[in-house]
Amino acid sequence: MSVRVRYAPSPTGLQHIGGVRTLLFNYFFAKSKGGKFILRIEDTDQGRYSDESLQDLYDTLNWLGINADEGPQNGGKFGPYVQSQRVELYKEYAQKLIDDGKAYYCFCDQERLEKLREEQKASKSASQGYDRHCRDLSPCEVEKKLAEFKALGKSPVVRFKVPLEGVTSFTDTILGEVKKANKDISPDPILLKADGFPTYHLANVIDDHLMEITHILRAQEWIPSGPLHVLLYNAFGWQQPCYCHLPMVMGKDGQKLSKRHGSTALRDFILAGYLPQAIINYVTMVGWSYDDSREFFDKSDLEKLFSIEKINKAPGVFDYKKLEWFNGQYIRKLTVDEFTKSVIPFLIDKNVISNPPTESELKRLEEITPLVQQRLKLLSELPQMIKFLFIKTELTDATLLVPPKYNAKQTQKLFPILDECIDYFFTASDEESEEFIRQKASENEVKLGDLLMPLRVAITCSTVSPPIFGVMRLLGKDEVKEKLTQAATALKKHCENN
Ligand code: GLU
Ligand code: ZN
Repeated sequence: MSVRVRYAPSPTGLQHIGGVRTLLFNYFFAKSKGGKFILRIEDTDQGRYSDESLQDLYDTLNWLGINADEGPQNGGKFGPYVQSQRVELYKEYAQKLIDDGKAYYCFCDQERLEKLREEQKASKSASQGYDRHCRDLSPCEVEKKLAEFKALGKSPVVRFKVPLEGVTSFTDTILGEVKKANKDISPDPILLKADGFPTYHLANVIDDHLMEITHILRAQEWIPSGPLHVLLYNAFGWQQPCYCHLPMVMGKDGQKLSKRHGSTALRDFILAGYLPQAIINYVTMVGWSYDDSREFFDKSDLEKLFSIEKINKAPGVFDYKKLEWFNGQYIRKLTVDEFTKSVIPFLIDKNVISNPPTESELKRLEEITPLVQQRLKLLSELPQMIKFLFIKTELTDATLLVPPKYNAKQTQKLFPILDECIDYFFTASDEESEEFIRQKASENEVKLGDLLMPLRVAITCSTVSPPIFGVMRLLGKDEVKEKLTQAATALKKHCENN
């Protein structure tokens, strides 16, 4: 039997990084087995549905470069793949369960259920939830109630008849045997709501069966639903798929990953300038490992090497710093072409270059790439770092030129030394220049870093910059000299006014 798995998100929020991991595990498992990866939209909770979330899901897949073999966008023989388009089908199956005596209509109104809840709360009674009031109505009573509801234009909900005795269990590939006494399963959960929409349980089980899903890889938070789903499979007389509940994704403090730890929406990672390669690699390593040493895997490696056997039982820790490191590594691996393509949107967004970029901007970008590519961890760091190369910026705050422990007057004295260094620099190599500048610094009893600080700020208007020698070569002697003169003038003014 060939493997068929699905990613079945509910579009009720932005794609969470934990959801992305579920998606990746499903996709890689399918590919490694030569199987199919199916995308299904579970949008039966119409109150929480949003178009933005659905679009975010499609954007996520697109950004990751993952194509579903079957799904809403490319179809397939088990479609439609959007649950709200399958409502009639769920009704038919719910009816079948009613006909077989495995589900029943419940006519209780909100008022009664609310009262019941309050009574249970007040009496602190052990029994919680629905009291199965309509479970044993006689066919006659049901008939009568149905007619009443119909006359009022209302529909009753349909509830599942959970067996009162016995135990339901299933074998989870990762966790082993999962068991639950039927009396501990929620008393007769709703399968079909009054609006005719199915609940998650009904739609999920029917679709997994009809779409011939063989393995269910999903978050551990769904384990409690497992026994109920098994009961539903049994009620329909269907064979259940293989269950494989994935280890939790936690922050470093051992708590479930949440906004407290940092961004959790994939969109935020995209905006911060993470590369898909880094996300795919790192996120797949949260709760899965190939062996004790190998860390780098690209998408095509994982399509071959991923396996369920190597998923850990223990929760996976999501380490933001580690992900950042991975990102830096992947930025390094980009070709100049790939690098510029990846950073252009960030530069446009911060108005550092035009949209679309001009020829000369592209040329500049290519020239600066070797100086910055190796140092970036996030693509979003770049605009600030290289802005000075594209936008004419004036040094508004002359005190930036002043090294720590210096005052403005002392700093002025560094400029003639720098002038001499620049003259030399443009006649010599970087190595020779470094030697020369070191010597000048020591002759004048200045630390090298302190001497270079006004130079860096004069040229880049910032105390952090790409390697300054490289920048100077890029700009050429005239421009460097001009900037240095401007800075000296600004500093002079500052001294006169203060
Ligand atoms: N729609 C469910 C979710 O949003 C799917 C759970 C499952 O995979 O069964 O996570
Ligand atoms: Zn009822």
